[in-house]
Amino acid sequence: MNLFTGLEEIVTENEPLAKYTWFGIGGPAEFFVKPKNEDQLQTVITRCNENNVPWRIIGQGANLLISDKGIKGAVIKLDEQSFGKMEFNNHSVTVRAACPLGAVMRESVKEGMSGLEDLVGIPGTVGGAVKNNAGSKFADIGTITANVRVIDNNGTIYTREKPDLNFEYRKSNIADQIITQVTFELVPDDPNRLLTRMKETFIIKKNSQPLSSRSAGCIFKNPPGEKPAGMLIDRACLKGKQIGGAMVSDRHANFIVNRGGATFDDVRKLIDVIRQTVYDKFGVELELELEIWE
Ligand SMILES: Cc1cc2nc3c(=O)[nH]c(=O)nc-3n(C[C@H](O)[C@H](O)[C@H](O)COP(=O)(O)OP(=O)(O)OC[C@H]3O[C@@H](n4cnc5c(N)ncnc54)[C@H](O)[C@@H]3O)c2cc1C
Repeated sequence: MNLFTGLEEIVTENEPLAKYTWFGIGGPAEFFVKPKNEDQLQTVITRCNENNVPWRIIGQGANLLISDKGIKGAVIKLDEQSFGKMEFNNHSVTVRAACPLGAVMRESVKEGMSGLEDLVGIPGTVGGAVKNNAGSKFADIGTITANVRVIDNNGTIYTREKPDLNFEYRKSNIADQIITQVTFELVPDDPNRLLTRMKETFIIKKNSQPLSSRSAGCIFKNPPGEKPAGMLIDRACLKGKQIGGAMVSDRHANFIVNRGGATFDDVRKLIDVIRQTVYDKFGVELELELEIWE
């Protein structure tokens, strides 16, 4: 039996990953797997482990820079249809991990349930958002996460409750696990009020971030006890700095945008230039928020 016998319907070989990332950058995945249910997901993990094939999970690739050379092993992407559903209960919503964060946010607002609306303008899936505790100065997703259903590296499926979950700035203790479902705690509120708040927050974001360009959001974390990374990069006069097709956004200096044809190396080199320049000028070492796959 070969690696994915019986799973041919959900496995593609040498699938280019650029189209699955916001940056539009990324070479082929040796195996690209789109499980439609948890049984298939379990089988994929087990087969990968039995055959020493490394696996990774991708959401909407909104926080990823992937090598043009591609990725060895399996890149798993939960099927959006099967892993996209949500269900509202009294004071919560339970949502499958491939659901876009924006979709559950809009539904919550319509239902008059508050908690997610301050995360407006953050692209990606629910799974990706919870894994790295997505957020902004307005809120973060870990605060409202009641529990997550995960599959671990042994293929075991279980639920992790709030006391076992640890969320920090763009970080959680959910490692080597695939999130398949999340329950968020919400609070009843007036739908019109929530809609207004969501729109106002979105306008603030839209005016300060290049939301319609190809990017991966903030490249660096804000260094503790220092000015925000974007301000440091701006003060280092790097806005508009370009290498190949990659440019430091002139709207928000902590964003690198793909102006067309940017390669993995263009972005990597620009990251190095930013880091070095900020270090030389201010003595601050910037830590990546962006995740690099190579
Ligand atoms: C224009 C723009 C604006 C942005 N603004 C913000 C912002 O304000 N705040 C913010 O926090 N981020 C922001 N981001 C970054 C990005 O939107 C978030 O990091 C988002 O949560 C990534 O979700 P994703 O599904 O695309 O995950 P991916 O980028 O695909 O993956 C990110 C990480 O999550 C893991 N992952 C994905 N799905 C799962 C899963 N089901 N189970 C376990 N792990 C998983 C991946 O393995 C990877 O480690 C922005 C990005 C863009 C392009």
